[in-house]
Amino acid sequence: MPRPYAGLRNVASYLRTTHAPAIGVRGLLAYAVLDATQQPLPGIPMSDTFLAGRTALITGSTSGIGLAIASALAAAGAKVAINGLGSAEQIASAIAEVDAAGHAETRHFGADLRDPAAIDRMMSELTAWSGGGIDILINNAGIQHAVPLAEMPVQKWNDIIAINLSAAFHAMRVALPGMATRGYGRVVNVASVHGLVASKDKAPYVASKFGIIGLSKVAALEYAALGSRESGGITVNCICPGWVETPLIEPQIEARMAGGNRDDGVRALLAEKQPSLRMTLPAEIAALAVFLCRREAHNITGASLPVDGGWTAQ
Ligand code: NAD
Repeated sequence: MPRPYAGLRNVASYLRTTHAPAIGVRGLLAYAVLDATQQPLPGIPMSDTFLAGRTALITGSTSGIGLAIASALAAAGAKVAINGLGSAEQIASAIAEVDAAGHAETRHFGADLRDPAAIDRMMSELTAWSGGGIDILINNAGIQHAVPLAEMPVQKWNDIIAINLSAAFHAMRVALPGMATRGYGRVVNVASVHGLVASKDKAPYVASKFGIIGLSKVAALEYAALGSRESGGITVNCICPGWVETPLIEPQIEARMAGGNRDDGVRALLAEKQPSLRMTLPAEIAALAVFLCRREAHNITGASLPVDGGWTAQ
């Protein structure tokens, strides 16, 4: 779809970056052409705003990894729908953060992902808001509850499976056919190392994450041959983080403080499983999600990509 003035807008945004002086006026003009047409020019790197004209939904993006992915996709030019729970202030702050990072409109869709009917309503509203359907679906929302299997409340099992696994199915079921029609689509499911290996005390979490990896492989196969290199194709992948510093793991840090401070808790958590002994930052997961959305990533599909400091290499 033609995007009048998109190239000029994107050049303006590029001028704000530190690389602008290095490429000169001819380079900037090349960027304008590149951005307006979405066609890569030989020898010219793809624009930072290569997602201009695309719409993305990121579930669970009022906090943590989802918020970082929403901001990074907005910075890459996408119109971003955020979703997630939180106070009015937290939601307003998330919208403001994504808006500040981006170039297009940001809106919050408040569906509680435990409710399939609410997901259906959100997906219908998104079809209208995006003018035909979303191009990028990041199933990121997730919750955790760590206790031994026999002590796991049944309601926790139901909620974790609903949010971490079933919600992704409900959203993909609606979003994928539109992606197929347009020849471009990206589904990135934020799974976990716990989709690749287990830990005790996390029965529903591990089951949900193994499940979403299986679901992603099926969808990847069903849509692999649609679209083309030029249109970008339809890909479905999982990112499998180890420890990422977000509110989700705070109870597990606190449980390991052993009378010390928070840094002691972080060190103890890393020492158990993550050989790099470094936390991943949400923005580092976001950088991988953005890469998967590029056209050059058309042949990365059905993959489960660990970002885990060597956790699953052991
Ligand atoms: P977080 O707690 O910071 O964010 C979770 C998000 O999910 C929030 O926006 C929250 O509002 C939303 N959410 C929770 N219940 C919801 C519901 N019923 N309906 C709609 N939204 C709901 O957590 P995070 O660490 O950023 O986790 C994001 C994803 O990354 C999860 O799927 C998690 O399993 C995965 N993950 C996290 C880590 C880590 O170390 N933090 C590691 C591996 C995988």
